[in-house]
Amino acid sequence: MIPLDVFGSESIAADLLEQARWRDGVECSRCRSDRTVKNGSYGPFQRYLCKNCDQTFNDKTGTIFAHSKIAPRKWLFSIERDTITFGVSSHPAFPLYQRALTFMNA
Ligand SMILES: [Zn+2]
Repeated sequence: MIPLDVFGSESIAADLLEQARWRDGVECSRCRSDRTVKNGSYGPFQRYLCKNCDQTFNDKTGTIFAHSKIAPRKWLFSIERDTITFGVSSHPAFPLYQRALTFMNA
């Protein structure tokens, strides 16, 4: 279980999302190339440029968080609460949460 204070700030939640998502390396959200470079930031999120297709993307692109107005920190809170209460969450971001757990226990 992730300690709740981990979600104390949006930038910490963003870091967690970044590490959970790219555990196997950053990959382009369009062409799946791993020829990517860091390219500034998008709010608290890292932004990347794909050198294969020139697509820019960030840690949220292609995830449940991409078009959500609700901050990832709040999603993570609600998943954590479900997990404590029910042992599992039906939230679409639950797999990402589980990856975050795996990462943090590693
Ligand atoms: Zn690409």
